[in-house]
Amino acid sequence: MELPFAESWKIKMVEPIRKSTREEREQWLKDANYNVFQLSADQVYIDCLTDSGTGAMSDRQWAALMMGDESYAGSRSFFELRDVITRLTGFEYVIPTHQGRAAENVLFSALIKACDVCPGNSHFDTTKGHIESRKAVALDCTVDEAKDTQLEVPFKGNVDINKLEKALAENADKVPFIIVTITNNTAGGQPVSMQNLRDVRRVADKYGKRVIFDSARFAENAYFIKTREEGYADKSIKEITREMFSLADGMTMSAKKDGIVNMGGFIATRHQDWYEAAKNFCIPFEGYLTYGGMNGRDMAALAVGLDENTEFDNLDTRIKQVQYLASLLDEYGIPYQRPAGGHAIFVDASKILTNVPKEEFPAQTLTIELYREAGVRGCEIGYILADRDPITRENRFGGLDLLRLAIARRVYTDNHMKVIAVALKNVFDRRHEITRGVEIVWEAPLMRHFTVKLRPLG
Ligand SMILES: *Cc1c(COP(=O)(O)O)cnc(C)c1O
Repeated sequence: MELPFAESWKIKMVEPIRKSTREEREQWLKDANYNVFQLSADQVYIDCLTDSGTGAMSDRQWAALMMGDESYAGSRSFFELRDVITRLTGFEYVIPTHQGRAAENVLFSALIKACDVCPGNSHFDTTKGHIESRKAVALDCTVDEAKDTQLEVPFKGNVDINKLEKALAENADKVPFIIVTITNNTAGGQPVSMQNLRDVRRVADKYGKRVIFDSARFAENAYFIKTREEGYADKSIKEITREMFSLADGMTMSAKKDGIVNMGGFIATRHQDWYEAAKNFCIPFEGYLTYGGMNGRDMAALAVGLDENTEFDNLDTRIKQVQYLASLLDEYGIPYQRPAGGHAIFVDASKILTNVPKEEFPAQTLTIELYREAGVRGCEIGYILADRDPITRENRFGGLDLLRLAIARRVYTDNHMKVIAVALKNVFDRRHEITRGVEIVWEAPLMRHFTVKLRPLG
């Protein structure tokens, strides 16, 4: 008999979590104005709000933490981190930052000016924010397949090369760089193939442009290349990573994802001119060049995290857990963005709560119902997150309306996955009785989802 699959680690330290009663949750929801961001973490049983900064560090990372060098300038921990990044990516120049958006802030301050156009595949919201706040345009060139949640294609995060070529032909002199997000978070943690990265490089070279990878989940992307793309099955994750980055000029990184640290980020590049330009913004915004927003000990832990999470077994454990949750949803017939992505399941609320009008926010309603059912906290990636049109001030109902269940790295067991799936099934089984959603009582002018106050209807 073939041995079953199991985690590539064992547990050395545990953190108790507490179940609650439905009555308690009902009260807490009311107190939180039906916005799960406003719940305190103690009120949550299983937290699927995000995979960002929520991962469990290994014993080697905790040991590295104790060895951190807190020197203001020339910290040994910086050089350890830089050497790991250079070994993984081939990029010689590294600037640490306090998280991913800080890397964007520093690098984009040096590269973007008003009226520029930055083409890419579904820019992440902070990336888009840092482009638009500089009065430039984040031009989305993602493949159309990404919009159909039921379509099963292996690299749904890809850049549409025709759209990219058109963008470059029309705006050539206004494009400071092309930015490719690996994996494509916004499209559902969907990977980008090596072939697509090669095609982006070819088009970029044709127009004399540089390419940045927004690399928060580059290791998960490498895993999908290994397991799905022809010719990569026998390559190691580190070999694939090196090949991916050989096709880029630089990267921004949120280390809170595939670095498996609770806080941190960096910029890395092969170009001295980019490094020199970014340096000028690192010092005032983040800090001196050999710590730029990070403690020495955190850089030390990140160096180990990057090394560990570019090993196949660690990634295999992670991705298989997400796929296990997906397989349970398949069993119950619950629709989600297919195939399962790297870091989360995106449940298609508009296909479940079909009786809730879009004006009453079906995905937010499903998020509330799931919390009410079992204390599982997901996150709406839908019409509330989409905000209002800046000009007409109308709600934007054009995109997808999803409930995201993000899975923290090395934190929950498969039994927790079962609880999440059954809780969702219980809501799914009574979906036809759910006919009313929520209305907005108060909202902030921008990024309203964090603080929005809601009221249940009906
Ligand atoms: C999280 C994330 C960022 C921003 O990083 P923070 O560490 O949250 O500031 C940028 N891009 C992508 C793709 C991300 O997932």
